[in-house]
Amino acid sequence: MLSNQIISKNLDIKDLHADCEKCFGLCCVALPYAKSADFAFNKSGGTPCRNLGPDNRCGIHQDLREKGFRGCAVYECFGAGQKVSQYTYNGLDWRENPKIQNEMFEVFPIMQQMHEMLSYLYEAIQRKEAKPIFGVLQTALDETEALTKLTAAEILNHDVAGHRRHINELLLQTSELVRGSVKSVRVKGKLKIGRGSDLIGAKLNGVDLRGANLRGALLIAADLRNTDMRTTDLIGADLRDANLSGANLVGSIFLTQAQLNSAMGSVDTKLPPTLTIPKHWK
Ligand code: SF4
Repeated sequence: MLSNQIISKNLDIKDLHADCEKCFGLCCVALPYAKSADFAFNKSGGTPCRNLGPDNRCGIHQDLREKGFRGCAVYECFGAGQKVSQYTYNGLDWRENPKIQNEMFEVFPIMQQMHEMLSYLYEAIQRKEAKPIFGVLQTALDETEALTKLTAAEILNHDVAGHRRHINELLLQTSELVRGSVKSVRVKGKLKIGRGSDLIGAKLNGVDLRGANLRGALLIAADLRNTDMRTTDLIGADLRDANLSGANLVGSIFLTQAQLNSAMGSVDTKLPPTLTIPKHWK
């Protein structure tokens, strides 16, 4: 399913995963959250979470779910935290440099979007089915990588939404190329299975979902046990509390670790090689 293209001399897949050791706790400060099933209290953007220590470590890291912070357990910055901390601001900590705080907290969520795009492009470019558009994917990856290296002021002035639309078009083309050779599933009983479908709590145990387009689908608490999701597009699908026990996700398209972390599953769920079984599934 995957080929071994050289993607970038400078970009390593490790750069697209959070390395909290090299970050100044940016997600725990810059981002807002509201009291809900995912967060135990309200916090506004730009304010340090009260669980964040002066060493930028989370004081409840081992017990996030038990303490009502499931939203943190499933968050993924795609490596934007260390990029902003160590590259954009060259190791300047916001705690010691109050003048850069606000700007840094504005840059971080934009960098998160750009690193998310890089992560999807990194996957797209390795799909052998995407060979016909390899050149444009490579160009898009190079351009996106270059954007992440702009100065803070340049990043804030860039039309990231426009760039995202362009990248999304390429990801759609990749999805169509991958799914094209497999029969697409559209309807099961009264359920319509497709892009953005409302499949909350849907009973899909054992269904062959290969080739289905589940982009942005709501699969909250869906029963996806023993489903076959090889070549299923899952970009942006909401998998919170979906049961993936025994499902086969090898070769699925644009599935992220954060989506898995929000779902339920078991050790016999089959995953793409770049993703791992979440701790709470064991
Ligand atoms: S609970 Fe921990 S991980 Fe979540 S925002 Fe607060 S310090 Fe960060």
